[in-house]
Amino acid sequence: MYKHYFVMVFVFLLMIVIIMVCEVFISCTLNKNKKNSSKAPLIRNHEFHQFEIMKNGKFFNSVMVRSNVLKKHWYFNKSSREINMYNYTVSQNETLSEILIKYSNNGIDASEITLLLQQYPVLRQIKMGQILSWIIITKKKLQCLVWDIFPQEIRVYNRMDTSFTEGIIRFLNQLNDGLSSSILFIGKLSGTFIDSARSLGIEENCIMDITNALQYQLDFHKLHQGDRFSALISIMMNDDHSIKSKLLGARLCTAGKDYYVFRANNGKLYDCEAMRLGGNFIRFPTLKPFRVSSNFNLNRLNPVTGQVSPHSGVDFAVPIGTPVVSVGDGEVIVSAYSKIAGNYVAIRHNCHCTTRYMHLKKLLVKPGQRVKLGDNIALSGNTGRSTGPHLHFEIWINHRPVNPLTTTLLNVEKLLGHERTIYLNQVKEILPQLRFD
Ligand SMILES: [Zn+2]
Repeated sequence: MYKHYFVMVFVFLLMIVIIMVCEVFISCTLNKNKKNSSKAPLIRNHEFHQFEIMKNGKFFNSVMVRSNVLKKHWYFNKSSREINMYNYTVSQNETLSEILIKYSNNGIDASEITLLLQQYPVLRQIKMGQILSWIIITKKKLQCLVWDIFPQEIRVYNRMDTSFTEGIIRFLNQLNDGLSSSILFIGKLSGTFIDSARSLGIEENCIMDITNALQYQLDFHKLHQGDRFSALISIMMNDDHSIKSKLLGARLCTAGKDYYVFRANNGKLYDCEAMRLGGNFIRFPTLKPFRVSSNFNLNRLNPVTGQVSPHSGVDFAVPIGTPVVSVGDGEVIVSAYSKIAGNYVAIRHNCHCTTRYMHLKKLLVKPGQRVKLGDNIALSGNTGRSTGPHLHFEIWINHRPVNPLTTTLLNVEKLLGHERTIYLNQVKEILPQLRFD
């Protein structure tokens, strides 16, 4: 009886071992195939495509240079009818001027080449076998030049009014997993950040990641022309040969200060200190929590007027003169006196979220000023329509007041423990790669 039982167990275990061996074998074979196809993104060929697109409600002619890895769009107003695109592989001892003049069949204004070479003498170093692609628009103006310095780098020169901006696209070694490679984009702000990133060929999803994460740290409307940025992006090729790109890290330097964003293994974006980007808030607008004297209640009877009027915030029993702090990074949009709110401050944290602090004694910030989480913005008081010293605090999300004591939208997220250690090691590896040269 027992013998029979043991045989059954043995056979069962043997089956499990066979299944496991098969699985390992199959996954190895699959990985091998993926490894081979992953080399494909590094083989580049350039083609131009011209088509009409709708952008901001207007039709534009769009021109795209497409290599396996780089999808780059230019948008022209439909009225600029003349768009000529050229593509040429450099032969021995040829210079940039010779090529542009000889092969721009419909002509190029020679002063354009002079200007470009004056700004970027590095273009005198073009070599045999490298690929040049360029676009000439109305009045024989050079709009864009793509210089493919095979195999490690592509440089892109875009016209901006009376000068050219240079963008660098650098192909780094394959990542450790062997399935994907990474590309470093280095650019300068010309126009908006989004347009500058687009004209460098950074994919939309990565641009959105950067703007979504950094909008809490800086105001994208206040960047300066010429501000530098870089983005490290991993590129994977899907089975259908389409490219999937994922932001690994980005750096944006404005007014002498660097802002960073990195992706953790959980897929979310954090800053250098492993603080979540895209929503770091503290619960209370004071350094320590105070007793709640009146709750958030949209059907409340107003204690002064006796009428039903929503209490769209929460009141804290705070003694006069207590420092009031901003619950998150943001920009002061109001710092003023009003009959009802008394001295009050409103802070916009991002396009969705605003906070308000009312009945203050003293205002410590000015409209337009940027504040960080925990910064003193005022001293509490008893001004405006108020029955006693207290701090009235509101949070508005998408133009609606929410209960500051219960909303889960403002939870602080920080990586901790082992996850944090792994993340900080990744930052240590990626940060030095986010160069500007
Ligand atoms: Zn109140």
